[in-house]
Amino acid sequence: MADLPKCRRTSWAEADSWAETIAQAVRARGHVPETIVALTRGGWVPGRLLADRLGVKRMVSIRLQHWGVTAQPSGKAELTEGLSGPVRGQSVLVVDDITDTGESLALATNAVREAGASRVESAACLHIGHSKFLPDYIGEEIPRDAWVWVVFPWNYWEDVRHLVHQAMAGGLDADQVRAVLRERSGLDLPLDHVARSLEP
Ligand code: AMP
Repeated sequence: MADLPKCRRTSWAEADSWAETIAQAVRARGHVPETIVALTRGGWVPGRLLADRLGVKRMVSIRLQHWGVTAQPSGKAELTEGLSGPVRGQSVLVVDDITDTGESLALATNAVREAGASRVESAACLHIGHSKFLPDYIGEEIPRDAWVWVVFPWNYWEDVRHLVHQAMAGGLDADQVRAVLRERSGLDLPLDHVARSLEP
C-alpha cells in the first residue's frame, strides 16, 4: 500500500476564522486592495471570503500547478494560465489557501508585479514554517516539524477520493479502508463518504 500522508480535515468555520484574521490585519495596515488575485484553484474560496470582508469588487484569477494529486508533489510549480485580467497600476492582494513549498505564491506575486501592479501583497490561510515564501498575511501557522496534508472544505471530495484509492490498494472493502485512513492518516471519515468515493 502506498504511504498515506498525515491529514488534518478543516472546517468552513476555520476557513471563516482565517479569513477574519487576515481581513483584520489587512485593515489594520490600511492596505485594502483594489483587486484580489486568486490562485486557481486553492485561492478562489479564500479570495472570495476576503473580497466580501474587505469590500473588494474585482477578482482576477491566475493558474499555478504544482501538486499533482493529494499530497504528491509533481515537481516544480509552474504558471500554466496567466492573469485573467489586467492589474497595471492596481493595488493587489494575491491569495492562496496554503504556502507549503511557497513556490506557487512566489511565482504568482512575481507575475502580478511584472504585470505592473502598483502594490502587491499576499495572503495564505495556512502557512507551513518551512515555506520558502512568507506571505504578508497568514490565517494560521503550522510549525515546520508538524507538516500535514490539509483537507480543505473546498477540496474535500477530491482529497477523499484520492486517499481512499491509495488506501484500498490490496482489495480492501469500505470498512477496512476507513479503518486504515483513521489509523494511518488520522482522518475519521463517515462510512458513506468512503463508499461514495469508491464508486466509479
Ligand atoms: P506550494 O507548495 O506552496 O506551491 O503549494 C501549492 C498548492 O498545493 C497549494 O495552493 C495547495 O492547494 C496545495 N498544497 C500544497 N501543500 C499542501 C498541504 N500540505 N495541504 C493541502 N494542500 C496543499
